[in-house]
Amino acid sequence: MELLKQKILSAGRPKNNNVLLVDSFINHQVDIELMQAIGQEFAHYYAEKGITRIVTVESSGIAPAAMTALALKLPLVILKKQSSRILDEDILQTTVHSFTKGTKYELTLKHEFMPKGERVLLIDDFLASGDAAVGVHTLITQAGAQLYGIGIVIEKAFQGGHERLQAMGCDVYSLARIRSMNENQIEFMDE
Ligand code: 5GP
Repeated sequence: MELLKQKILSAGRPKNNNVLLVDSFINHQVDIELMQAIGQEFAHYYAEKGITRIVTVESSGIAPAAMTALALKLPLVILKKQSSRILDEDILQTTVHSFTKGTKYELTLKHEFMPKGERVLLIDDFLASGDAAVGVHTLITQAGAQLYGIGIVIEKAFQGGHERLQAMGCDVYSLARIRSMNENQIEFMDE
């Protein structure tokens, strides 16, 4: 997506070779027109795929996921990051390693918001190792639903997540795929 790539080049700040800071347009301040265009692009790609529900992980995935849900006119469910396990029959949890913080959290879903048989699209801001998306896949599967697609705003293609998610059988669509980066340069994959 050309508009997004231009924004990454003009406003993205590589912290090092592994982490890209996007807090001026996604993570802290939000470029809402760009988010709307992102939502429309995901809606266009996944329009005919029979999706019935959108999920995301709090908090940076919420803006692009909300715009996608609006464009597809589908319900949106935000998976929570809890610091500890909750013992409750209606709560599903799985432990996920946080790429940016180096800590662990309990990815949490209330079963009532994910009825059995739903065909689900995950929208998230970044794809790195794929741990967050694998955790989402675990919870959706436990709920008796299917994670059909995974729409990613920015993929760091050199961190292995894409292959892991495709191996789970998901339809992965990334709007910008970074081949490599350092403090001075960001290089995208050819399309
Ligand atoms: P993964 O689980 O695929 O390793 O990492 C995905 C999650 O980590 C994303 O939801 C995002 O919150 C965070 N993340 C991974 N890499 C980056 C990055 O380079 N920049 C920012 N801002 N967040 C990242």
